[in-house]
Amino acid sequence: MKLVFIGPQGSGKGTQAKIISEKIGFPHISTGDLLRNIQGPLKKEVDNHMNQGTLVPDELMLKILKETINSPYCEAGFILDGFPRNIEQAKELEKITPIDKFIEISISDEEAIKRISGRRNCKQCGKIYNINTSPKPQEENKCDDCKIELTQRSDDTEEAVKKRLNVYHNDTEPILKEYPSIKINGEQDIKQVTQDILEKLVE
Ligand code: AMP
Repeated sequence: MKLVFIGPQGSGKGTQAKIISEKIGFPHISTGDLLRNIQGPLKKEVDNHMNQGTLVPDELMLKILKETINSPYCEAGFILDGFPRNIEQAKELEKITPIDKFIEISISDEEAIKRISGRRNCKQCGKIYNINTSPKPQEENKCDDCKIELTQRSDDTEEAVKKRLNVYHNDTEPILKEYPSIKINGEQDIKQVTQDILEKLVE
């Protein structure tokens, strides 16, 4: 099954993509993670875009994505999170492989800003916390397991989040007008959102 999860920053699409991936057994492909893990000469250019909350050029993004979803790892299916982000990318994706379902996870801008600006992560184990919502760390700003100081992604500041939300409304949302999608209310608790998605997948 080839799925695309679309939603604004903070909608929980990454969290849900990970949970659903474990439940249905197809890999979770996050283009943000692919870009964050880039090493070598392209790293500086990619980091500049990410830190400012702007999109990396389509050509570069496509090259990385194609390598990933054309690999045997993704052959049986995948959950794509973070791509496509504009109509051009959606058309390119269509050329690479057909998508079974587009899942839209929606939340308001206010909720997105609240969630994202509170997001912290542990550099050591990768666990994600949220100081405004949940899960909150047991000790202030420390990972429950590794006990080291939590960090904030450089594109999670309020200013960068507002820019990223504008990009979402202007460039990403129009995709949903052209491709039929399943709309999920992302303002419910995590378990309910997962259940709603799973129910829609078997329909
Ligand atoms: P995310 O982790 O999905 O919020 O992505 C973080 C950042 O990675 C974005 O703000 C962009 O700079 C970049 N990025 C992720 N996916 C794409 C994409 N499909 N096209 C261009 N840039 C992307």
